[in-house]
Amino acid sequence: MDTPKRHHSDKSTSMKQLQFLFVFTLLLVSACTSSRKPEKAVTAAAKPAVRSYDLVEDYRPARSLDMKVVHTKLYLKPDFSQAWMRGTAYLTIQPHFYASDSLILDAKGFTLNRVEYIGDDFFRPLKYTYDGQKIRMFLGFNHAPRKNFEILIEYIAKPNELENVAGSAAIQGAKGLYFINGDGKDPNKPTQLWTQGETESNSCWYPTIDAPNQKTTQEIYLTVDTGFVTLSNGELVYSTDNGDGTRTDYWKQDLPHAPYLTMLAVGKFAVARESWRGKEVSYYVEPQFAATAKVTYPNTVEMLEFYSNQLGVPYPWNKYSQISVRDYVSGAMENTTAVIFGEWAQRTERELLDGSSESTVAHEMYHHWFGDLVTCESWSNISVNESFATYGSYLWDEHKYGRFEADRGLHDNLRAYLNEAKRKQENMVRFYYEDKDDVFDSHSYAKGSRILHMLRTEVGDEAYFAALKLFLTRYAYQAVEIQQLRLCFEEVTGRDMNWFFNQWWYAKGHPVLDIQYSWADSSQEAVVTIKQKQDFSSTPRYRLPMQIDVYTPSGKSTHRVVLSKAEQVFRLKSSTKPILVNADAQKVLLCEKKENKTAEEYIVQWKQAPLYLDKLEALQYLRNQQTPDARAVFLEALEHPFWDIRVFAISNWKFTAWKEDADLFERLKMMAKSDNDSRVRSAALNKLGEISPQRASATFEDALSKERSLRVISTALRNLAKADSAKAMREAAAYEQERFVKAAVYDVYGQLGDASKLDFFESDWANAGNARFQWVNNYVDLLTRLNDAALKKRGLDFLKSKEKEVSGWQLDYLKGIRKKLEEPTAK
Ligand SMILES: [Zn+2]
Repeated sequence: MDTPKRHHSDKSTSMKQLQFLFVFTLLLVSACTSSRKPEKAVTAAAKPAVRSYDLVEDYRPARSLDMKVVHTKLYLKPDFSQAWMRGTAYLTIQPHFYASDSLILDAKGFTLNRVEYIGDDFFRPLKYTYDGQKIRMFLGFNHAPRKNFEILIEYIAKPNELENVAGSAAIQGAKGLYFINGDGKDPNKPTQLWTQGETESNSCWYPTIDAPNQKTTQEIYLTVDTGFVTLSNGELVYSTDNGDGTRTDYWKQDLPHAPYLTMLAVGKFAVARESWRGKEVSYYVEPQFAATAKVTYPNTVEMLEFYSNQLGVPYPWNKYSQISVRDYVSGAMENTTAVIFGEWAQRTERELLDGSSESTVAHEMYHHWFGDLVTCESWSNISVNESFATYGSYLWDEHKYGRFEADRGLHDNLRAYLNEAKRKQENMVRFYYEDKDDVFDSHSYAKGSRILHMLRTEVGDEAYFAALKLFLTRYAYQAVEIQQLRLCFEEVTGRDMNWFFNQWWYAKGHPVLDIQYSWADSSQEAVVTIKQKQDFSSTPRYRLPMQIDVYTPSGKSTHRVVLSKAEQVFRLKSSTKPILVNADAQKVLLCEKKENKTAEEYIVQWKQAPLYLDKLEALQYLRNQQTPDARAVFLEALEHPFWDIRVFAISNWKFTAWKEDADLFERLKMMAKSDNDSRVRSAALNKLGEISPQRASATFEDALSKERSLRVISTALRNLAKADSAKAMREAAAYEQERFVKAAVYDVYGQLGDASKLDFFESDWANAGNARFQWVNNYVDLLTRLNDAALKKRGLDFLKSKEKEVSGWQLDYLKGIRKKLEEPTAK
């Protein structure tokens, strides 16, 4: 899954919540590319929570597959008005090794009509028990291993009634099958149906063994009203008009995959198609986005070609489709050949100016090798899926946009992991967890991506991709654990890799390094003293191969060293005293670090060291310095070709004389107007608003009249509100219906609006979309500011009336904020 994909023991930041936050962060703040989740604020002093597990009782094994489903044939007819799925399943079952006389299938919340054994020329009703979760069938005699047999189950799946069955509120977020506006009564939403299988939810709408180590081929006959388009895995072999207003689409996937990857989508969609190496590549969007269907999922064909070539394993499946659906519960999902995105992915041409779903497109596509072709054996091994998919986005960025863009994403990954590590630290391969959703966290995604980057750096590109090719080829269509990956790396390189895998995948934590540089004049040596300061009682003492670069006026020398001790001194010969010594010169180590570099050394680093992180570290140090040299560095940074360096320089330079420096003020105005990247223009407007909103008022107005970028429009609107409230209110009115500016409009009305704006807020509740979070906050801001008992009551009643429309943490949030509003205003 994405997500930023979903991105699930700490219930306060479930993946769904993170995904939701992720989506609106993505829409409103910036084009968040590779980091799939926003960071959660954590107090610095917080210690990671330690939960103790019983090593035997709490162990999470892979599912035992005494019986496997080897083929699944489904006849499905959704009933939109009741939100039911009527189905008949023909399942081909294979006893694995032991003879057995019973079969257990997952089937959540079904009404069962027929459960039968299919003999050569007969159907025989099977004895079974059903507890609402699992069907236990008694076959009547022992079935020999590896000899297939068939069963039939006729059922009605009732996903919306699951709550009652399971007696749990949490299941609402895992009901597998979702009907959107099924009765057609909501004028604001199209009628749709879609599924979300990961982790074990597809058994809410068809009977199977719902485990990632189970693999089945699949045929689906899906009967819907003729006005609907359908999408599922594999090939659409044919469609039959039934002559009764319905049509049956026959979808077939010949290659086996895990049940959580099965998908359906039904609705009114516009479809754009092209082909790649003779395979269909198709793009599904709601009809109003038809003009941008293809660019909604940018560079898909080029990506298929790139990954196929880089991995040396051509894309293995028979088509590649992508679709955006309403009210999706995750960011995106790698269903085999049919990826689902949330509606956030669909954008107009203008909305696409500020970024697209490209890094998610890359993430989900990479899953088609890591996740779909080779699949994690159990959720404990989710790293096989998610670490690779996250690093897949890195590889695409590196190829298409260069090292700086890719490394920026990798740096986001590091920050996301380190932030999460303050709260919890887990093994990457985790046989102990409270809930299977817990493994979809910044360890599996962000940390895993960084580990793969270190692994690639350690063995070199040629060995890295050769080992992946071996892994993907040898274990194609199988379930695997990370040890099988290790063995492939050992086979290719001829070297032991246990040390690497043990410290990174089978241990928790990360290195905390103290790096001290000095010069030994007598021996003409640069001395680098590195201490590992992490807590060795819970975290490994790491073996860290690294490169140290020594810069002198006559050039750079490179040294390879291996840090393995708690404290280690490296003495590097140098003919003259270095102007900079740069440890971890490849900037690959997953660590926290402290270095004693001086301002002069960071200036050399800025000028001469080549990588994104070299530049960023220099700017981070120099941002507080008020010296002419630091100023010169920042003036250069404002012109750096990489957009993020310019944004950093604008946003983070603590230059005390911003206000007095007319030249710089003019320069910011110029950047706000004409920089080629909307993220930079937006950062410049924010800085102007911070320095002097009044002096920049004309620039904000100029942006509002001329800009195409909705990100910049939003920033201009928020800053104009600081300078000229009447104008800001007028401008905001023009953008009330522009979904990517809504959050800024809510902000302005929340701060400046009068009672009349309550009408707007209330009528816009249904349209808030991904700005729902801002809607709630700004509506409450407005009510609090108006400070009128009658209006407050009106607001409280409105919020209360909306509580039935939301669930889970969104409901908790709404209730929480309503309670706050109910409190008497402090005098
Ligand atoms: Zn994923």
